[in-house]
Amino acid sequence: MDKNWKIETLAIQGGYEPKAGEPRIVPIVQSTTFKYDDADYVAKLFDLDVPGYFYTRLANPTADAFEKKIAQMEGGSAALATASGQAAISLAILNICQCGQHIVSASTLYGGTYNLFSATFPKFGIEVTFVNPDASIEEMQAAFRPSTRALYAESIGNPGMNVLDFEKFAEVASQQQVPLIVDNTMATPYLCRPLELGADIVVHSATKYIDGHATSVGGVIVEGGNFNWDNGKFPELVEPDSSYHGMQYLKTFGASAFTVKARVQLMRDLGPTVAPMNAFMFYQGLQTLPLRMQRHSENALALAGYLEKHPSVSWACYPGLKSHPSYERAGKYLSKGASGVLTFGIKGGATAGKKFMEACRLIALVVHVGDARSCVLHPASTTHRQLTEQQQISSGVSPDLIRLSVGIEHIDDLISDVEQALAASQKL
Ligand code: PLP
Repeated sequence: MDKNWKIETLAIQGGYEPKAGEPRIVPIVQSTTFKYDDADYVAKLFDLDVPGYFYTRLANPTADAFEKKIAQMEGGSAALATASGQAAISLAILNICQCGQHIVSASTLYGGTYNLFSATFPKFGIEVTFVNPDASIEEMQAAFRPSTRALYAESIGNPGMNVLDFEKFAEVASQQQVPLIVDNTMATPYLCRPLELGADIVVHSATKYIDGHATSVGGVIVEGGNFNWDNGKFPELVEPDSSYHGMQYLKTFGASAFTVKARVQLMRDLGPTVAPMNAFMFYQGLQTLPLRMQRHSENALALAGYLEKHPSVSWACYPGLKSHPSYERAGKYLSKGASGVLTFGIKGGATAGKKFMEACRLIALVVHVGDARSCVLHPASTTHRQLTEQQQISSGVSPDLIRLSVGIEHIDDLISDVEQALAASQKL
């Protein structure tokens, strides 16, 4: 790898560089184990004295190629692939936060992450304080405690598509001497590189744009390599780990200490490993990520502009629209595009929303975002139907809200599908 390669080149060439006679395409190493002739070498592998593979729960050559490519694209020092985005988020937090400790998080989160933080982590004794991402620095600081170990946010919030104020979040995290962990799923490293904007750790649901074709569930943690773990708050990275015969992660592994600890301690004990086949799909997906994110963003912007003016639509929400509260911030942090997800309000509320979804022909009713194919969801009649209307509204889902994950089809075909579905939605 050449350090000066641009992200488009890293996407294609990074992560795996075959030597003469080796396969051009990264092999799917569908093997749990690896064979050796020499017991001393295996001992060295277990002691982490030499790099290599001994069991796919901990490391695998296909996963390794994916990890290297995404680390290069994010500008990080190391990465760890996981079985899902939820596993990536869980391991990233559990790596530095234990029972009796606390994190501060932006409140605008993917619903699954919100549940993890508000319901499941408290059962492990980890408390989470949610802050409005638009809160002042002083208000944010007031949420911190001596036991706080991380500040968490999404680069683009799902589904509100609010763009993170990186400067403010990075400043607060650095004042508080805790890492800023950013979920970069919706933006991807092509549109936004959080590590260059003050984040210390990046997490992804690789299931979304990284895969890009709706084939595989997975996640990944990327480490920035610059955070000072030796500030007194993170003894687990500095002091000997009695569960790994006294390993001192920071001293031994420096800029990849966080990743090595997550791998050899948490992946060893909890085990949410990426499958080699899925790692291959993510590796493949990353190759076309720059091209896809350009088209997703262009199509979403065009469709949002069309919807905003449509007489059957009451409002449209996309950070590339001037009317969106994050418009200016999108200009600052997402100069190449604002990704592919938008929401809009349909006139006629829930009944019209259901009719719209059912009338779409090319755009499919799917509970997913980030696919090359366009998808539609009317949360009030599907994912959020167990909630009362009042509960739906307080969780940001109004009865008229429709979410579109805009794919990479031709924009003319997308607009004509939306046009005929909107017409059908308004029929009695
Ligand atoms: N983070 C974000 C922003 C997401 O949208 C999702 C899933 O939709 C996740 C994390 C969880 O990822 P996964 O479904 O791969 O566990």
